[in-house]
Amino acid sequence: MQSRFGKLFDAIQSSLIILLYGPPGCGKGTQGRLIIEWLGNTIPSISTGDMLRAEIAARTPLGREVQSIMAAGGLVPDGLINAALCSRIQQPDCTRGFMLDGYPRTVEQAEYLDNLLASRNLPSPIVIHLDVPADVLVGRMVSRRQCSQCGEMFNILSKRPKVVGRCDVDGSPLIMRQDDHEDVIRERLRTYEKLTRPVVAHYPSDRYFQISGDRSTPYIFEEITGILESVMDAKT
Ligand code: ADP
Repeated sequence: MQSRFGKLFDAIQSSLIILLYGPPGCGKGTQGRLIIEWLGNTIPSISTGDMLRAEIAARTPLGREVQSIMAAGGLVPDGLINAALCSRIQQPDCTRGFMLDGYPRTVEQAEYLDNLLASRNLPSPIVIHLDVPADVLVGRMVSRRQCSQCGEMFNILSKRPKVVGRCDVDGSPLIMRQDDHEDVIRERLRTYEKLTRPVVAHYPSDRYFQISGDRSTPYIFEEITGILESVMDAKT
């Protein structure tokens, strides 16, 4: 069912840009799915990681170029990801705005996004930062499994599938992401600290909200929806 916010958002003819920011494994994907549903599917969720994994699966030239970088836990060059994002947000489903999961991940990407939004007359983003301690992240990621078809996430410790190794939604096999092995996870966390954490300073305090992601899903979601409602209420 659509939320009060979703209806409000429908009524006022403006766009909404949400950035879900935080380290690998902080829960961006889980919260992202809930937010989009709460918004009544008015805007799409764009995960740059999912976009890149789709390129790899389809063996496109971009996929071939980024495969080894992702497998090693590094970042894809800014120019490549910026171009991919630019063409994605020109799709018709982005006319009311969009939510980004995993972008921007460098200061250069944040600057690129600023220019892109300004050139398209779109508002500045609301940044939701899910903060989780590094030791919690490693434990979460080594035990997570993803549906090979629909992308639904499970965790063999905290969110087990009903049938071992199978997705509850469509029954497809669950897989471990290639970069969810401990040595690669540690490299991804190093990359995050070095290149992605500085992005926080890029956003003004009235658009940036840091919340603890080391809590259960409903508590985090309640805090996020409270933030989105207060930002929208301030606009009306
Ligand atoms: P996580 O947030 O759990 O690390 P993602 O699915 O967002 O997972 O990203 C997986 C990988 O895809 C990253 O480690 C990186 O190699 C690549 N990637 C995703 N988004 C970006 C981006 N905005 N810039 C550069 N590389 C990216």
